[in-house]
Amino acid sequence: MNDTQQSVTEAAAPAESLGFDALPLSSQVRRALDEMGYAEPTSVQSATYGPAAQGRDIIVQSQTGTGKTAAFGLPLVDRLVSDAAQSQALILVPTRELALQNADELNRLSQHLGIGVSAIYGGAAMQPQIDQLRKGTQIVCGTPGRVLDHLRRGTLDVSGLRVLVLDEVDEMLSMGFARELGAILERLPPKRQTMCFSATVDDDVRRIAQRHMHEPEFIGLSSDAVAAAKIAHYAFMVPGKDRTRDLVRILELDDPESALIFCNQRSETERVAADLQAAGFNADWLNGDLPQKDRERLMGKTREGKLRYLVATDVAARGIDISHLTHVINYTFPESAAQYVHRTGRTGRAGRTGTALSLVSPRELGSLYYLRLQYKIFPAERSLPTQTELRTRQEVDRLDWLREAFQGTPAPMDVAVARRLLTHVDAERIVAGLVSTFLGASKSSDLDAEMASARRARSPERPHEDAPQHPTSDARAERPEAQRSGPQRSRPKQPARQARDVAGKSAQKPSPQKPSSTAKHARASQSDDKDQGELAQAWATLQLELGRLDGVRVREVTQLLRDRCGLTRARMGRIRIRDRYTRVSVPQAQAESILRKLEGQSLHDKPLNAVVAGA
Ligand code: AMP
Repeated sequence: MNDTQQSVTEAAAPAESLGFDALPLSSQVRRALDEMGYAEPTSVQSATYGPAAQGRDIIVQSQTGTGKTAAFGLPLVDRLVSDAAQSQALILVPTRELALQNADELNRLSQHLGIGVSAIYGGAAMQPQIDQLRKGTQIVCGTPGRVLDHLRRGTLDVSGLRVLVLDEVDEMLSMGFARELGAILERLPPKRQTMCFSATVDDDVRRIAQRHMHEPEFIGLSSDAVAAAKIAHYAFMVPGKDRTRDLVRILELDDPESALIFCNQRSETERVAADLQAAGFNADWLNGDLPQKDRERLMGKTREGKLRYLVATDVAARGIDISHLTHVINYTFPESAAQYVHRTGRTGRAGRTGTALSLVSPRELGSLYYLRLQYKIFPAERSLPTQTELRTRQEVDRLDWLREAFQGTPAPMDVAVARRLLTHVDAERIVAGLVSTFLGASKSSDLDAEMASARRARSPERPHEDAPQHPTSDARAERPEAQRSGPQRSRPKQPARQARDVAGKSAQKPSPQKPSSTAKHARASQSDDKDQGELAQAWATLQLELGRLDGVRVREVTQLLRDRCGLTRARMGRIRIRDRYTRVSVPQAQAESILRKLEGQSLHDKPLNAVVAGA
């Protein structure tokens, strides 16, 4: 590199055949990588290792999800830091989540080297952190505010510091940490190596590099490849008037396995999640208003795959490593192109493929234009699903559910009838009648009307199930998990529920600003009850406190009710299995005796508690 110019390296593809043999790593680190299941370095790890291990200052343009933690972690633990008991490396990160994630990854990489990593962040007690630092942990990973606090108190000794890593520096600056960064940098020994990682490199980042780094080498992905190459980008042009309805339609059709759904405003997150819950999706929200404990719990649930759709703001989602996410959805389009890159970087991580979907209203076209211009990301335009497409999707779902519901071996007599039926001149009408009896009627050609009528016609337990779900912060804290989730969609979907749930949503537009919508809905339900007359009176819904996650299947529930309670299938209403509970409609008159008979029963070796739902 010449003296005056910053050198630029393009991140190369990893040497596939060599795996980690291409890097001169110690046997201890190789062992750790094997245990972590890392077979070969990612591009950024290959490109960073050499210059970082040589002690060079580097600016690496790399977004979260590309393996950047190990990119600085490998040279750090293997070459740059010794096992001497003093703080030798400081990693500054924008959020406590990232501090914890980075510390965890570095601890795993250095597990056979006798090197320790401490995470220090705000919102946690000082004393345990002071005790940890006093032991002389070699690597300290922390958020700027808390690190500065420790520096001012003298509880973080940086006299032996040799390496500084600024991770997600653009995020730290956009979160307003510039002052803290400046104050920290002033207190660090000037003779040190500085590595800077950032998804976007703008003037602010360059200014830091100019002032605080020594002839940094720039390791970048070309700007048209900043977004992980494995992400497919799509934009739905929407009017912007009823985004949630449009979002529901998109979810109906694309059926994403898991998604982080971004909103620009924190006030939107709760409302969108409530709408999705009302539409039957397993969704929840995350924003800065939520206490840290709840945020961690929700992220944990998302990571474990127990929560399918997490609706969040940019700030709340910062630093989240949810590597399995299949989709990132922009409910509202981000105001800056850099934000788009950050958001969509949450999917397609660690070599997986991902999909980014954006709802773009006419007002947001300008931001889409800048995204194309600045990052050469050209989301393919898609149209909102038509009613025909949604109908096809529902038909497929209904079929899936029937297949799941009838997996057992049928009685020979029933098989004989089925055979006759298949060749009968009225086969179509009879089968349609059976499907309708089992899953709920569907007649109207208009989708929403059809869903609404399915709900009215076939939901004996509707008064409980369709009650609006408006999770307010207080309610969230108080309601038990099973109730909080409300009617949920999981995979495979259950079409009758789907039809009813979407109808529930269109009948009710939950809005935190309009609490009266709940009352309105309740009134609507009452008049529906009158229409339903005796049907609604004649049934009760029982809730069994075991669900899909406990391995419960429809077949087992019917068998249990038949064998233990003497209930024929004709006397059972719809059976709906949720993640943690199961609901079944039974004749009101028999409810009490069924509950008595279920006492002491078990399923899958777990006690089967049964109650009247909503009681
Ligand atoms: P990061 O960009 O550091 O947040 O990493 C994203 C995800 O990729 C994390 O879950 C890492 O554990 C994982 N990861 C990092 N490097 C590798 C590798 N070489 N092979 C497989 N997974 C990796």
